[in-house]
Amino acid sequence: MMKRIAVIAGVVVALIAIAMVAGVLYMRSYFSAPSAASVASVVGDVGARRVLGVFAHPDDEQLVTGFFSLAKEKDQAFTALITGTKGEAGHQVPTVARQQDLGIVRKAEALKNGFALGIDDQEVWDYPDGGVSSESIDEITARIEAKIEAVQPDLVVTFWPASGATGHKDHMRMGLAAESAVMQARTRLAGVGGYKGPRWIAYVITPPNGLRTFGGETGKFVADNQPDATHAMPGNIPAKMRGWKIHASQEHYVQAAYGFPDWLLYLLWDQEYYRVVDLNAP
Ligand SMILES: [Zn+2]
Repeated sequence: MMKRIAVIAGVVVALIAIAMVAGVLYMRSYFSAPSAASVASVVGDVGARRVLGVFAHPDDEQLVTGFFSLAKEKDQAFTALITGTKGEAGHQVPTVARQQDLGIVRKAEALKNGFALGIDDQEVWDYPDGGVSSESIDEITARIEAKIEAVQPDLVVTFWPASGATGHKDHMRMGLAAESAVMQARTRLAGVGGYKGPRWIAYVITPPNGLRTFGGETGKFVADNQPDATHAMPGNIPAKMRGWKIHASQEHYVQAAYGFPDWLLYLLWDQEYYRVVDLNAP
Protein backbone atom coordinates (compact mmCIF):
# COMPACT_ATOMS: atom_id res chain seq x y z
CA MET A 1 0.00 0.00 0.00
CA MET A 2 2.76 2.47 1.03
CA LYS A 3 4.65 1.51 -2.10
CA ARG A 4 1.61 2.26 -4.27
CA ILE A 5 1.12 5.68 -2.64
CA ALA A 6 4.80 6.46 -3.24
CA VAL A 7 4.47 5.51 -6.92
CA ILE A 8 1.34 7.65 -7.34
CA ALA A 9 3.02 10.58 -5.57
CA GLY A 10 6.06 10.17 -7.84
CA VAL A 11 3.85 10.22 -10.94
CA VAL A 12 2.02 13.33 -9.73
CA VAL A 13 5.31 15.15 -9.02
CA ALA A 14 6.63 14.16 -12.46
CA LEU A 15 3.44 15.40 -14.18
CA ILE A 16 3.63 18.73 -12.33
CA ALA A 17 7.31 19.07 -13.31
CA ILE A 18 6.49 18.33 -16.97
CA ALA A 19 3.61 20.83 -16.91
CA MET A 20 5.88 23.50 -15.42
CA VAL A 21 8.63 22.92 -18.00
CA ALA A 22 6.02 22.98 -20.80
CA GLY A 23 4.59 26.19 -19.32
CA VAL A 24 8.00 27.87 -19.22
CA LEU A 25 8.77 26.75 -22.79
CA TYR A 26 5.37 28.05 -23.94
CA MET A 27 5.85 31.38 -22.15
CA ARG A 28 9.36 31.69 -23.60
CA SER A 29 7.83 31.74 -27.09
CA TYR A 30 6.39 35.17 -26.19
CA PHE A 31 9.93 36.46 -25.68
CA SER A 32 11.46 35.14 -28.90
CA ALA A 33 12.06 36.92 -32.19
CA PRO A 34 11.71 34.39 -35.02
CA SER A 35 13.28 36.69 -37.61
CA ALA A 36 16.59 36.92 -35.72
CA ALA A 37 19.70 34.81 -36.36
CA SER A 38 21.33 33.53 -33.16
CA VAL A 39 24.91 34.70 -32.64
CA ALA A 40 27.28 34.46 -29.67
CA SER A 41 27.87 38.22 -29.70
CA VAL A 42 26.65 40.93 -32.09
CA VAL A 43 29.93 42.86 -31.90
CA GLY A 44 31.98 39.72 -32.66
CA ASP A 45 29.58 38.62 -35.39
CA VAL A 46 29.92 41.80 -37.43
CA GLY A 47 33.61 42.17 -36.56
CA ALA A 48 33.40 45.56 -34.81
CA ARG A 49 36.38 46.58 -32.65
CA ARG A 50 35.11 49.79 -31.02
CA VAL A 51 31.57 50.31 -29.77
CA LEU A 52 29.62 53.35 -28.56
CA GLY A 53 26.24 53.00 -26.84
CA VAL A 54 23.81 55.95 -26.70
CA PHE A 55 20.91 55.68 -24.24
CA ALA A 56 18.69 57.93 -22.14
CA HIS A 57 18.52 56.88 -18.47
CA PRO A 58 20.61 55.18 -15.80
CA ASP A 59 19.46 51.50 -16.02
CA ASP A 60 18.72 51.64 -19.79
CA GLU A 61 22.01 49.73 -20.09
CA GLN A 62 20.17 46.83 -18.42
CA LEU A 63 18.70 46.21 -21.91
CA VAL A 64 22.20 45.67 -23.37
CA THR A 65 24.16 43.86 -20.63
CA GLY A 66 24.85 40.88 -22.89
CA PHE A 67 25.86 43.13 -25.75
CA PHE A 68 28.40 45.13 -23.72
CA SER A 69 29.74 42.44 -21.41
CA LEU A 70 30.37 39.99 -24.27
CA ALA A 71 31.86 42.73 -26.47
CA LYS A 72 34.43 43.12 -23.71
CA GLU A 73 34.93 39.56 -22.43
CA LYS A 74 34.60 37.66 -25.70
CA ASP A 75 35.57 40.12 -28.42
CA GLN A 76 38.02 42.36 -26.51
CA ALA A 77 36.35 45.41 -28.07
CA PHE A 78 36.74 48.95 -26.73
CA THR A 79 33.38 49.96 -25.25
CA ALA A 80 31.97 53.40 -24.51
CA LEU A 81 28.56 54.48 -23.21
CA ILE A 82 26.63 57.75 -23.11
CA THR A 83 23.59 58.11 -20.85
CA GLY A 84 21.70 61.29 -21.73
CA THR A 85 20.02 62.05 -18.38
CA LYS A 86 20.66 61.38 -14.70
CA GLY A 87 17.21 59.82 -14.27
CA GLU A 88 16.25 62.31 -11.58
CA ALA A 89 12.52 62.05 -12.39
CA GLY A 90 12.47 58.31 -11.73
CA HIS A 91 10.29 56.52 -9.20
CA GLN A 92 12.34 54.84 -6.47
CA VAL A 93 11.59 51.16 -5.77
CA PRO A 94 12.68 50.98 -2.96
CA THR A 95 13.29 54.53 -1.76
CA VAL A 96 17.00 54.81 -0.98
CA ALA A 97 17.61 58.58 -1.17
CA ARG A 98 15.95 61.99 -0.89
CA GLN A 99 14.11 62.60 -4.18
CA GLN A 100 16.14 65.82 -4.74
CA ASP A 101 19.35 63.73 -4.60
CA LEU A 102 18.06 61.03 -6.96
CA GLY A 103 19.90 62.35 -10.03
CA ILE A 104 23.27 62.14 -8.25
CA VAL A 105 22.46 58.70 -6.83
CA ARG A 106 21.31 57.28 -10.16
CA LYS A 107 24.28 58.76 -12.00
CA ALA A 108 26.52 56.90 -9.55
CA GLU A 109 24.48 53.71 -10.01
CA ALA A 110 24.93 53.97 -13.80
CA LEU A 111 28.69 54.51 -13.45
CA LYS A 112 29.01 51.54 -11.07
CA ASN A 113 27.02 49.26 -13.37
CA GLY A 114 29.05 50.43 -16.37
CA PHE A 115 32.23 49.61 -14.49
CA ALA A 116 30.84 46.15 -13.66
CA LEU A 117 30.13 45.61 -17.38
CA GLY A 118 33.74 46.49 -18.23
CA ILE A 119 32.84 49.70 -20.07
CA ASP A 120 36.03 51.62 -20.85
CA ASP A 121 34.64 55.13 -21.31
CA GLN A 122 31.36 56.27 -19.76
CA GLU A 123 29.56 59.61 -19.54
CA VAL A 124 26.25 60.49 -17.89
CA TRP A 125 24.95 63.79 -19.26
CA ASP A 126 22.46 66.09 -17.58
CA TYR A 127 19.63 66.66 -20.03
CA PRO A 128 16.35 66.73 -18.08
CA ASP A 129 14.88 63.29 -17.38
CA GLY A 130 11.54 63.09 -19.17
CA GLY A 131 12.38 66.22 -21.12
CA VAL A 132 14.91 65.28 -23.81
CA SER A 133 13.16 67.81 -26.01
CA SER A 134 12.96 68.46 -29.72
CA GLU A 135 14.62 71.86 -28.97
CA SER A 136 17.72 70.25 -27.44
CA ILE A 137 18.02 67.53 -30.08
CA ASP A 138 20.39 69.48 -32.36
CA GLU A 139 22.70 70.18 -29.42
CA ILE A 140 22.58 66.53 -28.30
CA THR A 141 23.25 65.35 -31.85
CA ALA A 142 26.30 67.62 -32.13
CA ARG A 143 27.58 66.38 -28.77
CA ILE A 144 27.19 62.73 -29.79
CA GLU A 145 28.94 63.49 -33.06
CA ALA A 146 31.87 65.00 -31.14
CA LYS A 147 31.98 61.88 -28.96
CA ILE A 148 31.95 59.69 -32.08
CA GLU A 149 34.96 61.56 -33.38
CA ALA A 150 36.76 61.17 -30.02
CA VAL A 151 35.97 57.45 -29.51
CA GLN A 152 36.02 56.44 -33.19
CA PRO A 153 33.50 53.58 -32.88
CA ASP A 154 32.84 51.32 -35.85
CA LEU A 155 29.48 50.39 -34.30
CA VAL A 156 26.92 52.52 -32.45
CA VAL A 157 24.18 50.78 -30.44
CA THR A 158 21.05 52.75 -29.53
CA PHE A 159 17.25 52.86 -29.51
CA TRP A 160 15.13 52.57 -32.66
CA PRO A 161 13.92 56.19 -32.98
CA ALA A 162 10.27 55.41 -33.81
CA SER A 163 9.68 53.10 -30.82
CA GLY A 164 12.50 53.52 -28.29
CA ALA A 165 12.26 49.87 -27.08
CA THR A 166 9.59 50.89 -24.52
CA GLY A 167 7.85 53.85 -26.16
CA HIS A 168 9.57 56.37 -23.81
CA LYS A 169 9.99 59.74 -25.57
CA ASP A 170 13.51 60.24 -24.14
CA HIS A 171 14.52 56.87 -25.65
CA MET A 172 13.11 57.82 -29.05
CA ARG A 173 14.87 61.20 -29.09
CA MET A 174 18.24 59.79 -27.95
CA GLY A 175 17.92 57.12 -30.67
CA LEU A 176 17.15 59.78 -33.27
CA ALA A 177 20.05 61.97 -32.09
CA ALA A 178 22.45 59.00 -32.20
CA GLU A 179 21.31 58.01 -35.69
CA SER A 180 21.61 61.60 -36.97
CA ALA A 181 25.06 61.96 -35.37
CA VAL A 182 26.28 58.79 -37.12
CA MET A 183 25.02 60.00 -40.50
CA GLN A 184 26.51 63.49 -40.05
CA ALA A 185 29.87 62.05 -38.93
CA ARG A 186 29.99 59.74 -41.97
CA THR A 187 29.18 62.60 -44.34
CA ARG A 188 31.72 64.94 -42.77
CA LEU A 189 34.52 62.36 -42.56
CA ALA A 190 33.94 60.82 -46.01
CA GLY A 191 36.38 63.10 -47.79
CA VAL A 192 39.18 63.02 -45.21
CA GLY A 193 41.84 60.40 -44.50
CA GLY A 194 41.67 57.97 -41.55
CA TYR A 195 38.52 57.34 -39.53
CA LYS A 196 35.36 57.35 -41.70
CA GLY A 197 32.68 57.19 -39.00
CA PRO A 198 30.69 54.17 -37.73
CA ARG A 199 29.97 51.41 -40.23
CA TRP A 200 27.13 49.77 -38.26
CA ILE A 201 24.17 50.86 -36.15
CA ALA A 202 22.65 48.21 -33.86
CA TYR A 203 19.13 49.06 -32.64
CA VAL A 204 17.69 47.42 -29.50
CA ILE A 205 14.52 45.46 -30.37
CA THR A 206 11.93 44.29 -27.80
CA PRO A 207 10.29 40.83 -28.29
CA PRO A 208 7.19 41.67 -30.37
CA ASN A 209 4.88 38.86 -29.17
CA GLY A 210 5.48 39.73 -25.51
CA LEU A 211 4.82 43.41 -26.23
CA ARG A 212 1.53 42.68 -27.99
CA THR A 213 0.38 40.16 -25.38
CA PHE A 214 1.46 41.77 -22.10
CA GLY A 215 2.38 45.36 -23.00
CA GLY A 216 -1.03 47.00 -23.34
CA GLU A 217 -1.41 50.05 -25.59
CA THR A 218 2.24 51.08 -25.21
CA GLY A 219 3.44 47.58 -26.04
CA LYS A 220 1.31 47.55 -29.18
CA PHE A 221 2.73 50.96 -30.16
CA VAL A 222 6.30 49.70 -29.78
CA ALA A 223 5.60 46.44 -31.65
CA ASP A 224 3.89 48.33 -34.49
CA ASN A 225 6.71 50.86 -34.84
CA GLN A 226 9.87 48.76 -34.59
CA PRO A 227 11.43 46.66 -37.36
CA ASP A 228 12.19 42.93 -37.16
CA ALA A 229 15.34 41.94 -35.29
CA THR A 230 18.21 40.59 -37.38
CA HIS A 231 20.30 39.23 -34.47
CA ALA A 232 19.62 37.39 -31.20
CA MET A 233 22.32 36.90 -28.56
CA PRO A 234 22.57 35.80 -24.91
CA GLY A 235 21.45 38.52 -22.51
CA ASN A 236 23.96 37.65 -19.74
CA ILE A 237 21.29 37.18 -17.08
CA PRO A 238 23.72 37.14 -14.12
CA ALA A 239 24.86 40.61 -15.25
CA LYS A 240 21.25 41.83 -15.46
CA MET A 241 20.48 40.46 -11.96
CA ARG A 242 23.65 42.10 -10.63
CA GLY A 243 22.66 45.31 -12.43
CA TRP A 244 19.36 45.60 -10.52
CA LYS A 245 21.31 45.23 -7.26
CA ILE A 246 23.72 47.99 -8.32
CA HIS A 247 20.78 50.18 -9.37
CA ALA A 248 19.60 50.13 -5.75
CA SER A 249 16.94 52.81 -6.33
CA GLN A 250 15.44 50.57 -9.04
CA GLU A 251 16.12 47.15 -7.48
CA HIS A 252 12.44 46.18 -7.45
CA TYR A 253 11.66 47.81 -10.80
CA VAL A 254 10.83 44.55 -12.59
CA GLN A 255 8.47 43.45 -9.81
CA ALA A 256 6.78 46.87 -9.79
CA ALA A 257 6.49 47.12 -13.58
CA TYR A 258 5.58 43.51 -14.49
CA GLY A 259 4.10 42.12 -11.28
CA PHE A 260 6.63 39.27 -11.00
CA PRO A 261 10.27 39.04 -9.92
CA ASP A 262 13.26 39.68 -12.17
CA TRP A 263 14.50 36.06 -12.06
CA LEU A 264 11.16 34.88 -13.48
CA LEU A 265 11.19 37.55 -16.22
CA TYR A 266 14.70 36.49 -17.25
CA LEU A 267 13.81 32.78 -17.11
CA LEU A 268 11.44 33.63 -19.97
CA TRP A 269 13.38 36.48 -21.63
CA ASP A 270 17.07 35.58 -21.65
CA GLN A 271 18.02 36.85 -25.11
CA GLU A 272 18.75 40.31 -26.46
CA TYR A 273 17.54 41.26 -29.93
CA TYR A 274 19.03 43.77 -32.32
CA ARG A 275 18.43 45.13 -35.77
CA VAL A 276 21.89 45.65 -37.21
CA VAL A 277 22.23 47.97 -40.20
CA ASP A 278 25.43 47.96 -42.29
CA LEU A 279 25.73 51.52 -43.58
CA ASN A 280 28.35 50.46 -46.15
CA ALA A 281 25.91 48.02 -47.76
CA PRO A 282 24.61 49.25 -51.11
ZN1 LIG B 1 14.93 54.62 -19.94
